[in-house]
Amino acid sequence: MEAEADAASAGAADAVLAVEDIHKHFGRIEVLRGISLTAHTGDVIAILGSSGSGKSTFLRCLNFLETPTAGRIHLHGEEIRTRADRAGALRPTSHRQLTRLRARVGMVFQQFNLWPHMTVLANLVEAPRRVRGMPRAEAVEKAEALLEKVGLADRRHYYPAHLSGGQQQRAAIARTLAMDPELILFDEPTSALDPELVGEVLTVMESLAAEGRTMLIVTHEMAFARDVSTRTLFLHDGRVEEEGPPDDLFSNPRSERLRKFLSRLL
Ligand code: ADP
Ligand code: MG
Repeated sequence: MEAEADAASAGAADAVLAVEDIHKHFGRIEVLRGISLTAHTGDVIAILGSSGSGKSTFLRCLNFLETPTAGRIHLHGEEIRTRADRAGALRPTSHRQLTRLRARVGMVFQQFNLWPHMTVLANLVEAPRRVRGMPRAEAVEKAEALLEKVGLADRRHYYPAHLSGGQQQRAAIARTLAMDPELILFDEPTSALDPELVGEVLTVMESLAAEGRTMLIVTHEMAFARDVSTRTLFLHDGRVEEEGPPDDLFSNPRSERLRKFLSRLL
């Protein structure tokens, strides 16, 4: 037992992300009931679960878009220090710490969330300039390289409203990459897309996985999760119901709940 605990903490020390026993209440309702997770460099963790199981809340707690009510989060072995406010929500102890955390942990949302009043290029240049103080020429050069990478070099002067959903999401991914995140969180990145646009976004994500990026991906794209993730988690009712290598979960689900969840999708 002790050796196991030692191994677990040694594993956590060189992990990109180590989450310990995160809980979240909304009022009296507990929607996360103790979630722990460790991600090492290059891990691509797919998070599955029915609507309302707590997937988004979990991801949002990791960069404090939501405040957990208990638990600890470490990035590269460094704990994000928090303090409980009067309502019992854990908040980072300083604004500086929060800004730094958000610079290190990128997030890609279902609804893209590009800044509508800025061109694609300006969307990518903004955060590195403001948060990192990167010189403009360098930020532009980097943004152009990233737009090339996601296949949007020729759209750099477009406003988001003039792009397809798939293009907007690829731009949003490039914007996240512009901050050189150590970890990228994806919350159903293809759920808002017309079916014919899903593939182009998954292809970009697949290339990030192949580069060895560390990613947590909430998705309903089961074939993608199975092919691309290094580990798959199934959440149910605010807990990890089952986790393991994707082939095990998909071919050989142990829990009845996961079995039902998968059979509904087939
Ligand atoms: P998922 O992403 O798996 O669909 P969510 O994390 O969005 O699930 O939601 C988990 C539970 O928390 C749901 O029951 C949802 O209604 C509840 N919830 C989410 N956000 C809030 C909120 N801001 N206030 C109250 N309840 C919330
Ligand atoms: Mg959700």
